[in-house]
Amino acid sequence: MRFMKIAVLAGDGIGVEVTREAICVLREIAPVFELELETKDALIGGAAIRETGKPFPNETRDVCLESDAVLLGAVGDPEFDNLLPEERPEIGLLQLRKALGGFANLRPAKAFPALIGSSPLRAEIFEGTDLLIVRELLGGLYFGQPRGFLADRPEAFNTMRYSEAEIERVARVAFKTAQTRKKKVTSVDKANVLETSRLWRDTVEKVAKDFPDVVLDHLFVDACAMHLVTNPTRFDVILTENLFGDILSDEAAVLTGSLGMLASATVGGNIDMYEPVHGSAPDIAGKDIANPLGAIASVAMLLRHTAKNEAAAIAIEEAIEHVLDEGHRTADITSPSTKKPAKTSEMGKLVAEYAVKLAGPNRAHAA
Ligand code: NAD
Repeated sequence: MRFMKIAVLAGDGIGVEVTREAICVLREIAPVFELELETKDALIGGAAIRETGKPFPNETRDVCLESDAVLLGAVGDPEFDNLLPEERPEIGLLQLRKALGGFANLRPAKAFPALIGSSPLRAEIFEGTDLLIVRELLGGLYFGQPRGFLADRPEAFNTMRYSEAEIERVARVAFKTAQTRKKKVTSVDKANVLETSRLWRDTVEKVAKDFPDVVLDHLFVDACAMHLVTNPTRFDVILTENLFGDILSDEAAVLTGSLGMLASATVGGNIDMYEPVHGSAPDIAGKDIANPLGAIASVAMLLRHTAKNEAAAIAIEEAIEHVLDEGHRTADITSPSTKKPAKTSEMGKLVAEYAVKLAGPNRAHAA
């Protein structure tokens, strides 16, 4: 029996609803694979500001640092829209990322055959898409100093800054991951305009020499944005910096049918973190209609990367695919043939039930 401590930071809006389902799936599947879990809830974002005045309280940091992994829902609440950027719920997420130290954010995007009708793209364009965005998470514009507003005039500024070491460590994660996939890395930058991108490209070229079995190509970010929706099957691993990765991964959501389908893992630091890519979606929060599959797929990534239990991860991933194949849909991924969309809670229950069924005693013991 393997013991794991998981910090659960549901956060705000639909973060609470989708995390509930992800934990429910995890609890159902854990005993089948001889995993013993201790989960501890902690506050982040708007929920934390309401209780403690801070978006990332010290108690939450301590719970995270004492855990084997962190599962996050989402942060952001319109109630705090008038606060200064450094006081808003979203800052809690940046502080959390910094505290955990994870610098490589892995964001898979796969086109499920059952969801072909849910994407606005033509089936022949995105059928067979199976790509992974590796986004640098601790550098670039989101963290670069100096930043701020000028006091004497209506002007604001941010700094895009990268060191060779920051680029090299995330590039190594991308190349190593590509070795377990189709052995291709596309590095995305804006080297025709930005100095940080020139350094990015040179450093990625140097790292590539240590991975002769992986094919490397480069794309400017604007061209990559176009290729993602016109020729997504050309990609295996996309390696890019923080801001570009943030934008491109939301674009990649179109390939999966909905933002609610995308999972992510942040690795490379002291403690790995798992979270759906989407935000707190205030427009649908509290209605039990959010798609929990991205959060549930994040749990599968947790089982793969932190628990090192590939069979348990696959059981969840196959259960998600099965539930979609059976025609179950939340409102965001309905097609004209959907009779009645499933609630968030119904979707979670269906995946949990099928994952356990699929795991079966033989698969579980092979883990
Ligand atoms: P969002 O991802 O919350 O929502 C964008 C759109 O996608 C909305 O129409 C929403 O209804 C839909 N959507 C998102 N997730 C869904 C799901 N699981 N099921 C069904 N539909 C889903 O982005 P936003 O509206 O730009 O931001 C809302 C808040 O979330 C803001 O405060 C923002 O700062 C925050 N945010 C947080 C994170 C995070 O916590 N990692 C990421 C992005 C945005």
